[in-house]
Amino acid sequence: MTNLAPSSSDPETAPTSVAAPARADAAPAAIETRGLGRELPSGGRTLQILSDVDLRIDAGTSVAIVGPSGSGKSTLLGLMAGLDRPSRGSVHLLGRDLGPMAEDDLARLRRRHVGFVFQSFHLLGNLTARENISLPLELLGRRDAMARADRLLERVGLSDRGHHRPVQLSGGEQQRVALARAFAAEPDVLFADEPTGNLDAASGERIVAMLEELRAENGTTLVLVTHDERLAARCGRVIRLEGGRVVDDGVESSR
Ligand code: ADP
Ligand code: MG
Repeated sequence: MTNLAPSSSDPETAPTSVAAPARADAAPAAIETRGLGRELPSGGRTLQILSDVDLRIDAGTSVAIVGPSGSGKSTLLGLMAGLDRPSRGSVHLLGRDLGPMAEDDLARLRRRHVGFVFQSFHLLGNLTARENISLPLELLGRRDAMARADRLLERVGLSDRGHHRPVQLSGGEQQRVALARAFAAEPDVLFADEPTGNLDAASGERIVAMLEELRAENGTTLVLVTHDERLAARCGRVIRLEGGRVVDDGVESSR
């Protein structure tokens, strides 16, 4: 597939209010998917991983995506974040149609506006905790990168561990560094994929509490994948996937 469409505007000034086709009376959508589908070739057949996903996630809300293992949760997250390309349908993220965007424009949009937290932390092993947090800010040319990294380290209770590398930290501590990194550039949208999946109950609770606090402080839209129903229940809305389809979009049917 060729992608010759020029990007029509600068992703660094992505409009958050000039959204995808939306109801005039509605809050701006942080994310909107239309007829979203993802399939993969598999031994001469086509594997349908995600089908007909129509979702609208309002800016500033927190949403959990739940469902059995293999139901397509991570795939949906990757498509919403522009990390993966759909087989059909569209994703609008912060008012931008991701479909026609070139990879480097997508990367720039993510760097400026999107944060990620993963189950397995994904910290850079050869950098210290402090450097892991400051890196996204340095990539944005922010002069306050180190000072802000120090503030965030303090915020997640790791001021005294800033010079440690990931292997010197426990899982819970690594995830706290990853949270600080994810919020470093004050993202508009944060995607979290099973952020407590590798943690014991106590560390998981602490991560969830910090995630909620940081989210509220920053007014960030949160899309959280989990199969922990208790964690999901703490989000304002729960979207349920089964077999690659939305079986409950968490919106009251009376609306
Ligand atoms: P979940 O996150 O809900 O566990 P995923 O989105 O990771 O589910 O995967 C959904 C389905 O798609 C699973 O059956 C998985 O095996 C399949 N799948 C995902 N990515 C790939 C891939 N790159 N190649 C083959 N199958 C994949
Ligand atoms: Mg997954």
